[in-house]
Amino acid sequence: MSADSMLALNTYDPASAAVADPTIRGLIERRQRIFGAAVPLFYEDPVHITRAEGVWLYDHEGRAYLDAYNNVPSVGHCHPRVVDAVARQAAQLNTHTRYLSEVVYAYAERLLATFPEALSNLLFTSSGTESVDLALRMARYHTGGAGFIVTRFAYHGHSTAVAEITPAFGPGVPLGVHVRTVPAPPPGRSGEDVSQSFAAGIEQAIADLRRHGIRFAGAIFDSIFSSDGLYADPPGFLRAAAETVRRHGGVYIADEVQPGFGRTGAGMWGFSRHGITPDLVVMGKPMGNGMPIAAVVARPELMASFSERSGYFNTFGGNTVCCAAASAVLDVLRDERLIERSAQVGQYLKDGFERLQRADARIGDVRGAGLYLGVEIVDQAGAPDTREALRLVNGLRQRRILVSTCAAAGNVLKIRPPLPFSTEHCDLLLDAAGQLLAAG
Ligand code: PMP
Repeated sequence: MSADSMLALNTYDPASAAVADPTIRGLIERRQRIFGAAVPLFYEDPVHITRAEGVWLYDHEGRAYLDAYNNVPSVGHCHPRVVDAVARQAAQLNTHTRYLSEVVYAYAERLLATFPEALSNLLFTSSGTESVDLALRMARYHTGGAGFIVTRFAYHGHSTAVAEITPAFGPGVPLGVHVRTVPAPPPGRSGEDVSQSFAAGIEQAIADLRRHGIRFAGAIFDSIFSSDGLYADPPGFLRAAAETVRRHGGVYIADEVQPGFGRTGAGMWGFSRHGITPDLVVMGKPMGNGMPIAAVVARPELMASFSERSGYFNTFGGNTVCCAAASAVLDVLRDERLIERSAQVGQYLKDGFERLQRADARIGDVRGAGLYLGVEIVDQAGAPDTREALRLVNGLRQRRILVSTCAAAGNVLKIRPPLPFSTEHCDLLLDAAGQLLAAG
């Protein structure tokens, strides 16, 4: 794996002297013997989690860790309503997807009801990667083009086709010849018009594809630019991007794997903060609170073009057990008002980090939306300070609070807790971060 890969961020180093526990040392050795070196492990001193509940993780010694990182168990680890839905459905029926099923259609209709009317079809898959892969095919069949645009440190998944549009794997995994990158939107500190500069980058990339004889198929952007370093503001800046893509006959694909299902606190979907209706939307991660379910939501024209060319069958995609889990996720989001909570608690956390920022020049920028924050760590010259970011991440881990890093330089703290996170949990994180900054 390249040292410049996103997968190399916050990675355990076999030379690390931080691991004192013999149980942990034994588990690390087994992991490396089984998986080889390609599968990274978080932290200088990796954690062995054996149980979880709500926003708390517990290790083999029963020690509690505050989870400020995980968006898969988005409605809370092992939420009893999701666990119950899975157990009941597993006891009743779990098969492949070529039979009629009330459970599956009821969930699909509920999910589609959360989208703008123009997005009225969907296909189920089992992972974000599969969804992105399928969306790329749909865009190709619809436009007859092959060229795609992504941001400079985007991560979209690991299949052959998707790795070719994923610069975050680093230079060891070349992009496809049909792929162009654009800079992720700048945070707008300089007063630059973020919307226009981002759209101008897309315009140039389309021109470059054309110059190389490659017909434009579309652009895919994570609506909160997670791996690029988290760019959420100003709301609405994606409008000019979507207009540019469409003006040139391309398909706009919103990758909602990270911001979807209420994370941004501004409705269910990250793209709605920007006032756009994409042509295709891909989602996964939090959809089943840990059960493998993902989807592509499409305008009917795109589904029609796809159906003319290809059939679709996915053995596990949208099976009854996963749909039961996903339906319970929607129940919990509604009944526990988790989207409102994400907005309110996220603002509290952002305010807290901005207070730390005013007192400490090492915090360069605090950005994000809802319960998804990026805290940029810089040196005295304002340049990315990866070492200091890692010191903070590992220091928090020693205090049993889990976060990680993002951005190409790995200098942005990535804070993305399960949505039941409270202001008391924020205080635990802010106090620990403040102490670490004071001590460093
Ligand atoms: N898109 C984005 C924005 C992601 O963050 C990820 C996973 N990190 C994926 C797609 C791929 O999802 P999966 O790992 O479920 O294949």
